Order: sequence, then C-alpha cells, then structure tokens
Amino acid sequence: MRGTVYKSTGSWYTVKAETGDFYECRIKGKFRIKGIKSTNPIAVGDKVVFELETVGDENVGVISRIEDRKNYIIRKSVNLSKQVHIIAANIDQAFLMVTLNNPTTYTSFIDRFLATAEAYDVPVVLLFNKMDTYNEDELGEVSYLVHLYRKIGYSCLEISAKSGMNIDKLKEMMIGKTTMFSGNSGVGKSTLVNALEPGLQLKTAEISEQHMQGQHTTTFAEMYDLSFDARIIDTPGIKGFGIVDMEKEEIGDYFPEFFKRKLNCKFNDCLHLDEPKCAVKEALENDEISWSRYRSYVQMVTGEEDNYRIDEHKT
Ligand code: GDP
Ligand code: ZN
Repeated sequence: MRGTVYKSTGSWYTVKAETGDFYECRIKGKFRIKGIKSTNPIAVGDKVVFELETVGDENVGVISRIEDRKNYIIRKSVNLSKQVHIIAANIDQAFLMVTLNNPTTYTSFIDRFLATAEAYDVPVVLLFNKMDTYNEDELGEVSYLVHLYRKIGYSCLEISAKSGMNIDKLKEMMIGKTTMFSGNSGVGKSTLVNALEPGLQLKTAEISEQHMQGQHTTTFAEMYDLSFDARIIDTPGIKGFGIVDMEKEEIGDYFPEFFKRKLNCKFNDCLHLDEPKCAVKEALENDEISWSRYRSYVQMVTGEEDNYRIDEHKT
C-alpha cells in the first residue's frame, strides 16, 4: 500500500493510505537515507510504501520504503550535535505571514526566510496580514513591499484574517497542495487557520520560542486535511525554517535577483561586498536591486544582526 505520513511520534507513524484510511505504522529494520544523517528516518509529509500485518486483532502497517523527497526542511538535532532532525518533507509551499505593526515584521527576517526557503527548494507566498488596520502610510509601505517582492518573483497577497479580505483567493492557492504557515508570533497564523477551517486548532501558537530553548524533547510536525482539498503542515515551535548552515559563497545564490547577475561579476567567487566590477553592486546603484535586500544579504554574509524597519527605507 502507498500512503503519506501525517504524524510521527518517533517510533510510530500515522499514515494516510491512498484509500483515505489511516494506519498506524512502524519501520522494520534500519532505514538509511543517503546524503543526510538524521535522528528520524521518516518525517511528516513523506510518501511511503507499507504492508499490513495482523497483530492480535489489529492491523499494523510496516513501512518498507520511502519515496524520494521533493524537498525537506531540517533543524539541528537537540541531542546529537552532528545530526539533523527532519521536520517535514514534500512541502508544496510556505506562507510567510507578515505584518507592519503589532508585531513589526522586519525585512531582514523576511529575506532570511526567503533565502532559506530557496536553499530548501520550498516556494514561498508572502501574506501581508491585518490589512484592515493600516493607515495610509502603512498601506503605502505594503504596496512598496508587494511591488518589491513580486518583481523578484515571489507571490504576494494582501489579506485580513479578521475581516476575511482575500481569504477566498488564498483558499484557491491552497487547493491540492500541502502548505506550511510561518511568521512571527502575533501575525495572525491561528486566526487565519480558523478563518480557513473553523474549529481547527494548530499547536504552532502554543509553544513560545523561550519554551523551545529550554526544551530537550523534540516536537514533531503534524499534517491536517482541510475540508477544501488542502493540507496544512503544523510545525510547533518553529518560527522560520530553523537554521541552515550556508557557506558565505552560496548565500547570494539564494537571492534570485543577485544570482541572475552573478555571471557578470568580474570574479566568479564574488561576494558582492567590496570587489571591483561587481554586477550586483552596479544593479544596486542603478536601483535595480533594493537596498533593503542588499542589506539583508550583507547581514547574512557577515553574520551581523540588525533589525531593519521597512519604513526606514522610504525616506
Ligand atoms: P499567531 O501568534 O500568529 O497565531 O497570531 P494570532 O492568530 O493569535 O493573532 C494575534 C492577534 O492578532 C489576535 O489578537 C488576533 O485577533 C489579531 N489578528 C489576527 N489577524 C488579524 C487581522 O487580519 N486583523 C486584525 N485587526 N487583527 C488580527
Ligand atoms: Zn558581485
């Protein structure tokens, strides 16, 4: 039988078969995935092959194979420093929820998220939430950002989880897909999920970042079916995509508008910092690349943290 993993406890996996029925499954023997050392061999979202065995008077599945993953997101294992924990696999898209105020979402946070998503090969849609609360200046900022990110190639949608603005459009974007919701705490993830599927309660919001820091057990992601042929992956306690170790040299490849110009830099290992004849810096001077994006990039390359407010850029 074939199915998709919806939930995992570490030793048991809840698999939804193609028939629509759910089975509790185990793994037989050792599973090794080439390329990565992970603490968990199978993650939520994995497509698996399993056989049913009868134990007592119950049917139990035994997973014998995992299909190749389209993508997967990881974080460092809490216990074993050299291993990673696979949070989820086969994600069709991530929605990054952004708000200008209450809380402020910094462009540095958006850009770091987008670059990590590029590294993981997960498409991102930016959702500008709380549109019902913005004044004229703030609406201008939203338009500015929507224009900026669309130009790079990212889909953007202005929504209000509270008033229902564009929620129908959002639903359409989710049909037939597995979506992960991300964003700082307070941006409206729970409110949105409730607008999409009244009654569904995700765990995401319940676990604070602080709580996570002191926590030694691993939290597992979980997948949910929505009533309109869409799936959500809930990733408790994970604000972004976790941390990926990126080499300095590869960070520019995850900024699509930089990557596309890299071939024209004089040096093929150009970091676009102080090198001569850098095509990225030239594009920056010509306003073809935005300063906020460049600033986020420099932060990632140099490792300096500095929260950059969206509206600083406008003056
Ligand atoms: P989460 O931490 O991302 O899950 O955020 P919540 O869904 O808990 O929302 C945080 C607060 O923002 C709550 O008081 C919500 O009622 C409010 N909120 C969420 N979306 C909207 C919106 O579109 N408009 C307004 N005015 N408030 C919203
Ligand atoms: Zn360059």
